[in-house]
Amino acid sequence: MTSLLEIEDLRVNYGHIQALKGISLQVQEKEVVAILGANGAGKTTLMRTLSGLLTPHSGKITFAGQDTTRMGADRIVRLGIGQSPEGRRVFGTLSVAENLRMGGFTRPPAEITESCEHVYKIFPRLYERRAQLAGTLSGGEQQMLAIGRALVTKPRLLLLDEPSLGLAPIIVRNIFQVLRDVRDTGVTILIVEQNARMALKLADRGYVLEVGKLSHEGSSRELLSSPEIQAAYLGH
Ligand code: ATP
Repeated sequence: MTSLLEIEDLRVNYGHIQALKGISLQVQEKEVVAILGANGAGKTTLMRTLSGLLTPHSGKITFAGQDTTRMGADRIVRLGIGQSPEGRRVFGTLSVAENLRMGGFTRPPAEITESCEHVYKIFPRLYERRAQLAGTLSGGEQQMLAIGRALVTKPRLLLLDEPSLGLAPIIVRNIFQVLRDVRDTGVTILIVEQNARMALKLADRGYVLEVGKLSHEGSSRELLSSPEIQAAYLGH
């Protein structure tokens, strides 16, 4: 079977720092895959490279049969990869509704309106707050907006970079519940997370990234029950 996303021997450098040192992985259509790793492992670098914000030194990225390795970010969005970036990065001086519409920049206006309505159904809180400036939302609401903005592009592959970052446990549970609903609508998800337990409960499979290289891979069940992964990433 051909994978929706195929990454082969990907290397990404910042000057002389090698952030990704030859990563190969695959994501199948409708699969949820988690990338776990400590601070500085290279998770954000991977996400930014997949969405065309960083250009790799070498290696190959294929999405839906097309070589996206050196494609610009706007073309990658048009191909069907939507990203919710680390640190949320909503436009603080724009309203919730404006932020969502910006997310749909690749699509005709009538379709954007329909997609925004779809996002409001997933996140009723965003509908309540649609006229509010994004900069005045709580951290959890900003995270919902960042995910909602990525969903407005109707992605085939949703990239999520640390959706739990800096949020209270109850909010994290709430966000992951919504992500399960999104998964159940058939969106393929690649999620990077430091909250390994939550990510593995959502995902079908996972990979562990350690200083730029993949050290483990397996089904979520295998990783959750591995003593080595438990000791390093699951806090017991
Ligand atoms: P975190 O969870 O802390 O965000 P991460 O796993 O996402 O970590 P990256 O942000 O991808 O890790 O960083 C991987 C490595 O690349 C780190 O050693 C980091 O210091 C380095 N790095 C990241 N961005 C840059 C940059 N703009 N210039 C130089 N080095 C960078």
